[in-house]
Amino acid sequence: MLDKLINWSRVKSPWICHLNTGGCNGCDIEVVASLTPRFDLERFGILIKGTPRHADVLVATGAMTRQIWTRARRIYDQTPEPKFVLAVGSCACSGGVFRGCYNVLGGIDTVMPVNVYVPGCPPRPDAIIFGVLKLLSSLDPKIAKLVEELERKGYGKDIEVKGLTDHGSRKRD
Ligand code: SF4
Repeated sequence: MLDKLINWSRVKSPWICHLNTGGCNGCDIEVVASLTPRFDLERFGILIKGTPRHADVLVATGAMTRQIWTRARRIYDQTPEPKFVLAVGSCACSGGVFRGCYNVLGGIDTVMPVNVYVPGCPPRPDAIIFGVLKLLSSLDPKIAKLVEELERKGYGKDIEVKGLTDHGSRKRD
């Protein structure tokens, strides 16, 4: 019963913390746009928080750089369990255009497990919202049904979900 209540509150009101590890800010503008009334991410109960300690989901943008990785890992560790990570943009997914640079380790998953990858340079706000829905669909069968229906119509085919447990960080260097 308590588990059901906790799951219900988590699905109805996931709080997110936005983390930029070194991107060009293009993806950040799209994340902010998805929170504006035009795209209205808040209709799913999603609130942006200024601290990882109050967040359920880390929305990470940008490639993982050598300068930031220890701090990014600390932010991940400060987020309470169960926590989820959404990699937004090609840089966050794989290093993108910065991949191979001397100061870039790769994508976000070089230092923390990623649950959902939303590629694009930058991805549109609707792709980001669809990524969040895909994440929530693993917790709520009603959302899973909605996502299935949207996928049948051709939405979000390139958004990859690693699931809630089936993930692991890639080795650094
Ligand atoms: S994916 Fe594109 S828009 Fe996003 S941070 Fe990288 S270069 Fe910028």
